[in-house]
Amino acid sequence: RAVAERVASRVLDVPDFPKPGVMFKDLMPLFADGDTFREVIDGIVRHYGRDSFDAVVGIEARGFVVAAAIAYAAGVGVVPVRKAGKLPRVAYSASYALEYGEATLEVHQDAFTAGHRVLVVDDVLATGGTAQATLDLVERAGGTVAGFTVLLELGFLGGRERLAPRAVHALLTV
Ligand code: IMP
Repeated sequence: RAVAERVASRVLDVPDFPKPGVMFKDLMPLFADGDTFREVIDGIVRHYGRDSFDAVVGIEARGFVVAAAIAYAAGVGVVPVRKAGKLPRVAYSASYALEYGEATLEVHQDAFTAGHRVLVVDDVLATGGTAQATLDLVERAGGTVAGFTVLLELGFLGGRERLAPRAVHALLTV
């Protein structure tokens, strides 16, 4: 509970970013606060249990920050899921609809050993499109989803319902 309050006070509301009418949640102050960041990361590792996953997937770009820290704390590796065209080797792609247009995410085809239990992490869960595409990619690449966790869930956008029956762990929900 105390951690959640500290986290909440380190998330800033930025109106009209990246476009008019959008209230962007900026987690940079949380990342920048060493004590709180460490507590958050250790809390996530404790929540799942250090031995419950074999790899951590981070979603570009802020998810990389969280994923690398969790992976290091748990003593496992980190695998990036990147926007289209960024990965150097042969990759699986998953596209999903945005409010305007479409986005594509990719993962290297050899990213996982078959049956590897993969914890997927991002900074924010909004509509769930990004997470849905990423979880599909992990499975296509032979991984088993061990969990999906975010620091902040925007509950009113319905991401959790979209991802059901998969479980979502969120440190903080608004
Ligand atoms: P979704 O696909 O609609 O769930 O959007 C989630 C993705 O967009 C995540 O990768 C987030 O990093 C990013 N995102 C959406 N809204 C915000 C926000 O308010 N703050 C930070 N990132 C956001």
